[in-house]
Amino acid sequence: MESASTSGLFDTHCHLNHPRLLKHLPAVLERARAAGVSQMLVVGYDVPSSQKAVEIASTTAGVVSAVGVHPHDAASVEDGDLAALRALAAHETVVAIGETGLDFYRNLSSQQAQRSAFERHLDLGEELGLPVIIHCREAQDELLAGLEARQPSAVIWHAFEGNETHARRAADLGSLFGFGGLLTRTGGDQLKQVVRELPAERILLETDSPYLLPTGGARGDNEPANLPLIVQIVAEARGESASQVVQTAAENACHVFRLCPDSGS
Ligand SMILES: [Zn+2]
Repeated sequence: MESASTSGLFDTHCHLNHPRLLKHLPAVLERARAAGVSQMLVVGYDVPSSQKAVEIASTTAGVVSAVGVHPHDAASVEDGDLAALRALAAHETVVAIGETGLDFYRNLSSQQAQRSAFERHLDLGEELGLPVIIHCREAQDELLAGLEARQPSAVIWHAFEGNETHARRAADLGSLFGFGGLLTRTGGDQLKQVVRELPAERILLETDSPYLLPTGGARGDNEPANLPLIVQIVAEARGESASQVVQTAAENACHVFRLCPDSGS
């Protein structure tokens, strides 16, 4: 059941580089395309997965990449890793640094290690003129205060889970926001309120595959093919048509990741 409203989708955060999706990548890509998802950003979470993201992007049409080390692994970040990310970022398919940030929910690395790794990713984004993809759990206030002090040029809050006040502060910084499966989970109503109030030009769509399977998605790993479910929720929350949501979100992605013909790089 292909329709105009579900073509031209851009999944701005997926991990096709994750072993769970990588092992059947051709089928995952085929299902994505059949669902109208024509562009995907594969996000690195450590150095090897960042390498893999670049590799997938350079061999797959419509796929771009981001390189970074997840806050869960912040404690293991060494100078050599930053150098490796910087070298990878020179590749033409790399459109962002990340994912990075603070996760004070799981605290798999010490908070101090997370802060330091995050700063280094922000430095790298600034140095290379690339937007930074942020993962933030239960650390919104600290992370916002840090960004307000630094005023980085472009950040994307992936899987945004903050409240309306956080959203307003982040929006004042010029941030973009990625929305996905969390809209279908506990707390989804508060998040829909955020989706409703944000200016349209701040909204990106994402799956975070293989994670964050939306309620209503086929059981198993999440895949980019589930992105139309997110489109429906965002469209309902904003009182817009699905095609409007898809088109605006794709334009937003095109601008922030400098993929538009007129964006100069
Ligand atoms: Zn992710």
